[in-house]
Amino acid sequence: MSSCCVLGNRVDPLTLAGAVARVTEFIRAGTPHHVVTLNAEIAYRAYREPELQAFINRAHLVTADGAGILWAARKLGTPLPERVTGIDLLQALAAAGARQGWRFYLYGAAPGVAEAAAARLQREHPGLMVAGTSHGYLSSREIPGLIEAIKAARPHILLVGLGAPKQEYWIAGHLEELQVPVAMGVGGSFDVLAG
Ligand code: UDP
Repeated sequence: MSSCCVLGNRVDPLTLAGAVARVTEFIRAGTPHHVVTLNAEIAYRAYREPELQAFINRAHLVTADGAGILWAARKLGTPLPERVTGIDLLQALAAAGARQGWRFYLYGAAPGVAEAAAARLQREHPGLMVAGTSHGYLSSREIPGLIEAIKAARPHILLVGLGAPKQEYWIAGHLEELQVPVAMGVGGSFDVLAG
């Protein structure tokens, strides 16, 4: 199956299991990778915002996060195998990570929420390693300290929950410097997990 293009945005034709396999390859490679779960709202925004579209199309994995993307892909004659939402991919990566010893860093949401989300993930996936957490309302003066904290924690997967497209811009701007194998925007998933 070839990649499909919705409003100029590349979407990779992968199942949830296929996306986890791809992320596993990224972690083995060890070099920085950007993962985007693309919904219709962001696809449309990127269509009108060339800089955002360039970041999406340069990402190493773009999944179809929403029925709208699947519908558009089918209409365009490049159907996608299934919906791969941010929260489903996060949960599947937590399950794989608990088995394989991957370290996760959770950055984003209001103070206390990333810790609560991490605790929930650790309850659901015994053995899951959380290398650190940080809330998503740091001032620009505090960002260099966050970068140092993430680098020192050496996570395999950095989950960034700043909402789209803020998280996509943040990841694109910091990925090389962070040198994390996988950075993925997760929108409001920390709030969902923290309940
Ligand atoms: N957020 C943040 N910092 C900001 C703006 C937003 O950490 O400067 C967090 C916010 O607390 C929430 C998430 O980003 O946890 C955005 O969730 P939303 O459901 O709006 O994002 P979406 O899933 O639609 O991308």
